[in-house]
Amino acid sequence: MLDILRRIVQEVSSATDLSDALKVVVARIRAAMNTEVCSVYLFDPESKRYVLMATEGLKQEAVGRVSLSSSQGLVGLVGSREEPINVDNAPTHPRFHFLSETGEDPFLSFLGVPIIHHKRLMGVMVVQQRDSRQFDESEEAFLVTMSAQLAGVIAHAEATGNILDIPSATNERKKSTRFNGAPGAPGVGLGQAFVLSPAADLSGVVDKEAESVDDEIGRFDLALEAAREEIRILGEKLSSELRPEEMALFDVYLNMLDDHALGAEVKARIREGSWAQGALRQVVMQYVGHFQLMEDVYLRERATDIIDLGTRILAHLQGSDAHAQEYEFPDDTILVSEELTPAMLGEVPPGKLRGLVSVKGSSNSHVAILARAMGIPTVMGVVDVPYAQLHGLELIVDGYRGQIFSSPNDELREQYQAIFDEEQALQKDLQVLRDEPAETLDGHRIPLWVNTGLITDAVRSLERGAEGVGLYRTEVPFMMKDRFPSESEQQKIYRQQLETFAPNPVTMRTLDIGGDKALTYFPINEANPFLGWRGIRVTLDHPEIFLVQIRAMLKASEGLNNLRIMLPMITSVSEVDEALHLIYRAHAEVLEEGFDVEMPQVGVMIEVPAAVYQIRELGQRVDFLSVGSNDLTQYLLAVDRNNPRVADLYQAFHPAVLTALKMIADMAHEIGKPVSVCGELAGNPLGAVLLMAMGYDMMSMNATNLPKVKSVIRGISREWADQLLAEVLQIESAPVITATLQLSLEKAGFGRIIGPGRN
Ligand code: PEP
Ligand code: MG
Repeated sequence: MLDILRRIVQEVSSATDLSDALKVVVARIRAAMNTEVCSVYLFDPESKRYVLMATEGLKQEAVGRVSLSSSQGLVGLVGSREEPINVDNAPTHPRFHFLSETGEDPFLSFLGVPIIHHKRLMGVMVVQQRDSRQFDESEEAFLVTMSAQLAGVIAHAEATGNILDIPSATNERKKSTRFNGAPGAPGVGLGQAFVLSPAADLSGVVDKEAESVDDEIGRFDLALEAAREEIRILGEKLSSELRPEEMALFDVYLNMLDDHALGAEVKARIREGSWAQGALRQVVMQYVGHFQLMEDVYLRERATDIIDLGTRILAHLQGSDAHAQEYEFPDDTILVSEELTPAMLGEVPPGKLRGLVSVKGSSNSHVAILARAMGIPTVMGVVDVPYAQLHGLELIVDGYRGQIFSSPNDELREQYQAIFDEEQALQKDLQVLRDEPAETLDGHRIPLWVNTGLITDAVRSLERGAEGVGLYRTEVPFMMKDRFPSESEQQKIYRQQLETFAPNPVTMRTLDIGGDKALTYFPINEANPFLGWRGIRVTLDHPEIFLVQIRAMLKASEGLNNLRIMLPMITSVSEVDEALHLIYRAHAEVLEEGFDVEMPQVGVMIEVPAAVYQIRELGQRVDFLSVGSNDLTQYLLAVDRNNPRVADLYQAFHPAVLTALKMIADMAHEIGKPVSVCGELAGNPLGAVLLMAMGYDMMSMNATNLPKVKSVIRGISREWADQLLAEVLQIESAPVITATLQLSLEKAGFGRIIGPGRN
């Protein structure tokens, strides 16, 4: 069965549209099950009817014409029950509905199974037979398995059909199609999709012998140099958006194009007699295919980059030079690619880029980090999207929710245009709050700090009126390099952060890698990375990395003394003790070296459920506590924060999360320690109101949301927030809590700030 299934899935996946895909499905299943009829009815949500979309065995004229309401026939019954119906004499069944157009009268036995994709009922798959007999258990199991597997493929084909606007009985007019991914950078972008696909196809290169080895090496050298030049130019194009230190990523690419790395291997193959294109393909594919086996760790984790670079070189070898020439980007470009790379960002002239969509990657990919710093709405890891067919289509990017919409209808476009306009106007209006304190009407003040990673973030944060940095994610500068930055390199980068905000405090988190945050030069391959070697676990196992980082932080703070150090992923007190021991040691060493620095405040992140139950013990050891609500939510609810499939289950306002947050604040105050939140919840105006009421002493958030949170806090009283919190803590369901918060804030006059789809 698995074999048949695999073959059918493969064939269906390569079909070009929905109708072709379904034709394959019914033909293959009928043959595999050796029955007389196999049909697929798809549910049309607009007419709420099941439409016969493909059949083998019934009359072809009926396809697209015949339909059943949800309460009609056995098909309707399968759909409403969402379970298989298996009867040996269908016409005698009380729910049987005779369709004369299909010519199904001679068929007595009927087996129907629902087609369900991600909880959505897509339709019903039916097999029928002339004889009156019950399909046996194994046949039923076969059809159920087929249907479950094919649901995804059919959903994909349906989406493709919608995109291509294939006229069909269920689809008279163009439909807006939604695809889900993960939020990469907040904001809403409307524009025209520009699909950037590789200029040349490496996998299509044939093997040939070199006519002249010297000529081929000469050609290759020229192509390599041209690709290097191209990367340099692309990097320069981004230099107005990013700081010089952040351009380090482009040096990584240039190093890979170095004569000693990829170049040397390709040349060796040319010397063995291959022509340049063939040698290049062989080397690139060898790296990609076997990168797990490579000794060179740095190359091992670089499969994507290698394909990108290899393709660029190939384009030059073929003389197509497509990357060197200017593309005609529309003024409102939404850049789409299977896997966006930072180099691709540089292709679009600044000012024309409205949004980014990457089929692969997560919110921690380089592109997403850069996009956040540059303020470009981005969606990453989009599921089931036939991205190549989006080119030229109107597209909406919702970077708040991690969704994209192709060919939006007027209503949807207007809705998103309104959000976009509001957002622009709001940010402008809120500018006046820049130097105002976040203080409630009844005089309760709560400092609002920002989360940063790049220096570009820091500059934007100051413009938005941040009073300090609550979380500086030090892994970001580490991710921009192709090796661990040295102590002095780190010192320089940290100094910039500290200087930018001085005299306000900057909370630097020690390296938090693992989970979904990978360093290409320090790969961690694990079955369950979020439960594995992550954050403090890695750095305590590598004191040499930890000590260098702490020393760099301490040295950078000389004369400013506005440094705070924060430890991620703490699960046990022993980890804090060990880390503190190393921090004291680093401090002593730095003093010995002649630096005059005060011992900074040290804090612990509360992001693992175990830490919630040891707040007292942990808090007594350090100066402050800060809740990483992103991880705490994912661990409390056992929901991967980056998996779009379970995104609906990642509920920031789950009662268990709120109860834990309240408990943390209460216990921290019992032992007299300041406590803050630096997860996304703090930057959500609905969440911020609750956190303030819970008594949190400070909130740290992304720069984009800071003015919104400030505006809400300045417009309410602490008493009102306390009442709202008390009300919400009585509610048992996350959606009801969210709705209650939304309604209360709307009634209080903040409809504009919390606006639809922006939280
Ligand atoms: C968190 O987990 O809430 C947090 C702030 O850290 P990060 O998102 O970097 O894991
Ligand atoms: Mg975290």
